Amino acid sequence: MSETLTRREWLAASLSLPAIAAEPRAWNRPVPLGRTGLKVTPLAMTPVGAHGAGLMLRAVDLGINYFNAFALYYDESEFPAVRAALKTVRQRIVLGGGSGETTQEGLLSEIDKKLRILGTDYIDLWYLAAPESITDEMLEAMTIAKQTGRIRACVVSTHKFAAMAPRVIEARNTVDALMVACNFATWDGGTWAGASADIARVRQAGIGIVAMKAMLGGLKFVMEDRRAWAESLTTEAKRQAALAAALRWILQNDQVDTSPITMTSLDHLERNVKAAAMAFNEADKKLLAVELERISPYYCRMCQRCEASCRNGLPVSDLQRFLLYADGYGNLRAGREGFSQLPAHLRAVRCEDCAGCTVRCPNGVRVRERVMRAQAVLA
Ligand code: SF4
Ligand code: SF4
Repeated sequence: MSETLTRREWLAASLSLPAIAAEPRAWNRPVPLGRTGLKVTPLAMTPVGAHGAGLMLRAVDLGINYFNAFALYYDESEFPAVRAALKTVRQRIVLGGGSGETTQEGLLSEIDKKLRILGTDYIDLWYLAAPESITDEMLEAMTIAKQTGRIRACVVSTHKFAAMAPRVIEARNTVDALMVACNFATWDGGTWAGASADIARVRQAGIGIVAMKAMLGGLKFVMEDRRAWAESLTTEAKRQAALAAALRWILQNDQVDTSPITMTSLDHLERNVKAAAMAFNEADKKLLAVELERISPYYCRMCQRCEASCRNGLPVSDLQRFLLYADGYGNLRAGREGFSQLPAHLRAVRCEDCAGCTVRCPNGVRVRERVMRAQAVLA
């Protein structure tokens, strides 16, 4: 670090951002997603909440063409509205769906179930949701689903990008796109050094890139410890400004084809569209550098660099992700579900009983505090 730079200036400089393009790509101009033959708008949507179907219709009017339906098949009372909404726009949109099934029988049966719920003949992008590995059986199921016209393309979503990328490249005849946590904090400004180079390699293999966690769980972090909580506070206006900048950052990053943003209301949708209409600019860059500094003790970038370093074998990155579902997205059920799937002996470990934390996070995350909060909220 240059001696003449302050810490903040250094952070701003190290926030490795693609050059600000003279002509930014439009958020609503569809771009090809790898070799899928599908074109998706850079700004996409995961509609969530009681009126997800209506939200989707309004988003189509505003110019969004790609929708992840994951939340649309949870509330049975909404199924008729979802089917009616889809009927009117199905030919104009790209529809994503998926599940965590891993057997051939389970996957094909899940696809058929989702087709029934959504009232459609095919799903464009089927997500293999966060599998530990991609087996030949899963690939075979995807091939059958494509050949029988149930799906158009297959996407693998992963929280372990570095470990999964080589297998995805190997399976590129079947896997068409990769969904990866991607935002201003995980990019090369974090110590996931080489994220952009790794993503470029995947793209060179003809595989599309879909970003998840683009909005970092709404930049909401809660700490058990009151001192840390006070430090993490920011005003709502500042949070909204940082979210708008984070959105513009992901949209101007042409290494990423599309980013389905979780949206819960018309107000939320319109705020995002308004933010997307502006080009990413120098003020955004500075704002994100400040935000990166603020969130560093709380935000796990899922870089896996601390893998296997907890003396008690805790998957500290997964635990922080489950906590993000609860604190960031307000989805306690998803957080608890993730926690409940850990082996019993890991669910029983408590950081407060630990002799001393052996996890050293190069990104400055206060791992022990974060994991303690995850255990308090999710156990
Ligand atoms: S705790 Fe730190 S090192 Fe571990 S995955 Fe998260 S950001 Fe990376
Ligand atoms: S304090 Fe928690 S995260 Fe750290 S080594 Fe101990 S059990 Fe693992």
